[in-house]
Amino acid sequence: MEPQRSPLLDVKGNIELKTPLLRASSRLPLPGSRLKRGPDQMENVLEPAKKRTRGLGAATKTDTFRSRALAPPLSTVPQTQGQTAAQKVPRKTGPRCSTAIATVLRNQKPVPAIPSQKPGTSAAPPVVGGKKPGKRPAWDLKGQLCDLNAELKRYREKIQTLDQENQQLRDQLKEAQQQAKTLGMERSTLEGELARVQAQAEQGQQELGSLSTRVLELEERLGTQEGLVQELQKEQLELQEERRALATRLKEQERRLQASETALSSSQAEVASLQQETAAQATLLVERGDRLHGLEMERRRLHNQLQELKGNIRVFCRVRPVLAGEPPPSSGFLVFPPGPAGLSDPPTRLTLSRSDDRRGTLSGAPAPTTRHDFSFDRVFPPGSRQDEVFEEISMLVQSALDGYPVCIFAYGQTGSGKTFTMEGGPGGDPQLEGLIPRALRHLFSVAQELSGQGWTYSFVASYVEIYNETVRDLLATGTRKGQGGECEIRRAGPGSEELTVTNARYVPVSCEKEVEALLHLAHQNRAVARTAQNERSSRSHSVFQLQISGEHAARGLQCGAPLNLVDLAGSERLDSGLALGPGERDRLRETQAINSSLSTLGLVIMALSNKESHVPYRNSKLTYLLQNSLGGSAKMLMFVNISPLEENVSESLNSLRFASKVQLPPNAGPVRTPGLL
Ligand code: ADP
Ligand code: MG
Repeated sequence: MEPQRSPLLDVKGNIELKTPLLRASSRLPLPGSRLKRGPDQMENVLEPAKKRTRGLGAATKTDTFRSRALAPPLSTVPQTQGQTAAQKVPRKTGPRCSTAIATVLRNQKPVPAIPSQKPGTSAAPPVVGGKKPGKRPAWDLKGQLCDLNAELKRYREKIQTLDQENQQLRDQLKEAQQQAKTLGMERSTLEGELARVQAQAEQGQQELGSLSTRVLELEERLGTQEGLVQELQKEQLELQEERRALATRLKEQERRLQASETALSSSQAEVASLQQETAAQATLLVERGDRLHGLEMERRRLHNQLQELKGNIRVFCRVRPVLAGEPPPSSGFLVFPPGPAGLSDPPTRLTLSRSDDRRGTLSGAPAPTTRHDFSFDRVFPPGSRQDEVFEEISMLVQSALDGYPVCIFAYGQTGSGKTFTMEGGPGGDPQLEGLIPRALRHLFSVAQELSGQGWTYSFVASYVEIYNETVRDLLATGTRKGQGGECEIRRAGPGSEELTVTNARYVPVSCEKEVEALLHLAHQNRAVARTAQNERSSRSHSVFQLQISGEHAARGLQCGAPLNLVDLAGSERLDSGLALGPGERDRLRETQAINSSLSTLGLVIMALSNKESHVPYRNSKLTYLLQNSLGGSAKMLMFVNISPLEENVSESLNSLRFASKVQLPPNAGPVRTPGLL
């Protein structure tokens, strides 16, 4: 591709090509005025110059024609070889003329518009001055020389003029070059600017591209947004619908709220009055609580007073029924006379009739009977139920809760019903439950009631047996089970009144089931022991102890007392008249130990009743263990269990006599004379 030529270059070219043909430099535009024009204007400016040049070209043709006419030798030289031809001129025309011509020819460049003269064609003699001189005859050499000199002179003038013009043109060229340079700089500036503009355009293009992408993205997003907007509009419609429904509901709710507020204000008024009432009732309640507490304390006091009036030592007699397979006693053997108020009165008396076989045999008459009448705090005939028996002792259990030590003994010969009374009958029949489970249930229930008055009770149980003056734990478990590792009765601490059995388990209990489990464990321990030593259970005292602790935290009150339920060893005696084998000797020793401890118990009770200064607690392990539960404000109840059989009459009489010995009159006076009434 042909590079675009600057109009200035064209101008320069034209100048270079056409300058020799120009005649008047004044016709060229002024440099100052040219610089202010653009290329097109420049073209326009140059156009007349071209025209003039063409015009001049025509003139040049004329001049050429003239020169051809005037200088035939020159015309023979081809235009392209002008310089060579010109160089030849000085050799023919002299140094001055040739220098001038050479200068002209040097500045003259071939002009395409001027057709080159064919070699060999003769040119017409140049015409100088427009006047064709008349042809001199060949002989007029002088004239010809003169013409030639004139011609030469004219050429010299012309050369001078041309030199001046040339100089002017050179100046103009210089100026034009300067202008061209300025324009070139301008052009490079413009080109730089163009490049910058192009770069900007490119950048703009890129930006446009990215903007188009962005527009596409935005359009896409717009589409999505429009979809979203549509969804939102739909949702809005739904919400509006919902709002309307809610507004309706709100109105309804407001109406209800208003109604509720009205109701609330009336309720608040009611509440306020109720609060006043509650406060008044709370005050009343406190007062009543105080009163109740006072009454409770009063009840305790009166209860204790009543128990004391009944006697701190009481004796109940219980006669077991005749068991299957046992010979029924003769009628009148045991009689239970009614109380003073008749049959409705619970019996307190018992009459045992014993026939004196020896006296009857001697006289031959029917054996006379001896009546033995006994009076106790209560007598339970064979048909008495367990609950009836418990009813009588429940008051004592209450005393234990009130903080008075309680001891309940079961005394009697083996097989008279002691264990049945204390623990209950076989088979787990609830109706046959003995005093221990019933007493515990009663305790738990009363403790629960008293918790409403601010009392908190806790119970800790232990169960030991005293055999042959050794203490063993019936609640032993694991390796000690059945063996009932030996225990010692010790004071809980130096100077402490409280006694404790070493190696024995003290188990906290809070419900009947736990107590049942303990009784079952004791039963198992006894059963294991029985295999080692026959019927040992009847030869030992079983002591179930329950330590009761009560606290009224609000009033800072505390009470605590032990409840002891003792199943004593069989009270029967060995017939000392019989010959004793080795086993029987052991039995005798055993019996003596039992008798000793039972008689010590009797002595202790009597000493306490008589308020003697010395109470022989230490004479037996049993009394030693129970010393804190005997005497003082302690309550003691002894069940004398009697066999209904005639064959046991002797032992029954012994038991009744023992019981009568320990019994005191209700006013806690001196010990009544035991024995027959
Ligand atoms: P102990 O403990 O005095 O040796 P038990 O309590 O073992 O006497 O009683 C001996 C037997 O008599 C047992 O079979 C027992 O069930 C029964 N028994 C004792 N008292 C009664 C009673 N009140 N009602 C029914 N059976 C009794
Ligand atoms: Mg027994």
